[in-house]
Amino acid sequence: MKIAVLSRNAKLYSTRRLIEAGEARGHEMVVVDTLRCYMNIASHKPQIHYNSAPLEDFDAVIPRIGASVTFYGCAVLRQFEMMGVAPLNESVAITRSRDKLRSLQLLSRKGIGLPITGFAHSPDDIPDLIDMVGGAPLVIKLLEGTQGIGVVLAETQKAAESVIEAFMGLKANIMVQEYIKEAGGADIRCFVVGDKVIAAMKRQAKAGEFRSNLHRGGSSSLIKITPEERMTAIRAAKVMGLNVAGVDILRSNHGPVVMEVNSSPGLEGIEQTTEKDVAGIIIEYLEKNHKPSQTRTRGK
Ligand code: ADP
Ligand code: GLU
Repeated sequence: MKIAVLSRNAKLYSTRRLIEAGEARGHEMVVVDTLRCYMNIASHKPQIHYNSAPLEDFDAVIPRIGASVTFYGCAVLRQFEMMGVAPLNESVAITRSRDKLRSLQLLSRKGIGLPITGFAHSPDDIPDLIDMVGGAPLVIKLLEGTQGIGVVLAETQKAAESVIEAFMGLKANIMVQEYIKEAGGADIRCFVVGDKVIAAMKRQAKAGEFRSNLHRGGSSSLIKITPEERMTAIRAAKVMGLNVAGVDILRSNHGPVVMEVNSSPGLEGIEQTTEKDVAGIIIEYLEKNHKPSQTRTRGK
C-alpha cells in the first residue's frame, strides 16, 4: 500500500515508528505535513496539493493530528476521505473526540461508566452544580485543556465555588467532575486497535499530585486489566467511532470510569512500557481493514 502519515514532524517518536513499521511490512510510507496541505474543493475532483503537486494514489492515511491543529487537520483528513483514501480514524470521530463534553454525552447514552460530570453556564447555578456531582472535593476541567493543564482539584466547597466562578468570569468552558479519590492518583491507558485492547499501562502521579499525566511528572508501569476494564475500553472506542484510540480509565468504587478517549494516542510511553510493537499492530490493522471506496462517515 501507499500510506500517508499526516504529521507535523517526521522526527516525532510516533511518526517515526509508524514509518518504520510500515516499511518493514513492505509499504510505501510518506510523511505529509498537515499544515502544508492545501485543497481544491471542486465537484467530482477533490484534490490535495503539496509542494505545488497533487497528492495521488494513496490507499490509506494515518492521521496524527495534534490538539492545536484539530480544525485544519480534520479538514485535510476529510479531503483525503472525499478522494476515497481510507483513514485509520475518521475525521468525524476525531472531531468528536476532541470535544470532551460531547464525548462524555455520547458515552453516557451507551451506559459506559463515567465520573459524574456537570456542566453549566450561569454562575447562579454553581451551588446546585456542585451538589449534582456530589459536593467537594471535586475536579474542575477546562474543556480545551491537554496534558493535565487546566485540571484543578478543589478540596472544599468554598474553593470549588470560587474557582468555578473565576473560570466562568473568564468565559472559559469548564466541566465539573466527581473526584475519584480511590484511584490514588493512578489511571489506566488502554490502547485499542479495532475491537481489541492490544496494550495497557498504568500511570501513577508523582507524590503530592493527583494528575497522572507523564507530562506532569507521572510514571508508567505494566498493569493487568480486568475483563470489565477491557470491555469498557473497547466499547468506548466503538461509541466514538475510533478504530485506534487511547482510552483513559480510572478505577473507581463504582467500577471502571472513562475519563477520556484519545484519537491520536502517543506510541512512545505505551511501546516502551509494554515492549509491544504497537506501530506494527496498527499497520497490520490497516492492511486488513482499509476499504478505499468506503470512506463515508458512519453516523453515531
Ligand atoms: P488531560 O486531557 O489534560 O490529560 P484529564 O482529564 O485526562 O486531562 O486529567 C488529567 C489527570 O488528572 C488524569 O490523568 C487523572 O490522573 C487525573 N484526573 C482527572 N479527572 C479526575 C477525576 N475525576 N478524579 C480523579 N482524578 C482525575
Ligand atoms: N446527533 C448525533 C447523535 O445523536 C451526535 C453525534 C456526535 O456528536 O458525534 O448521535
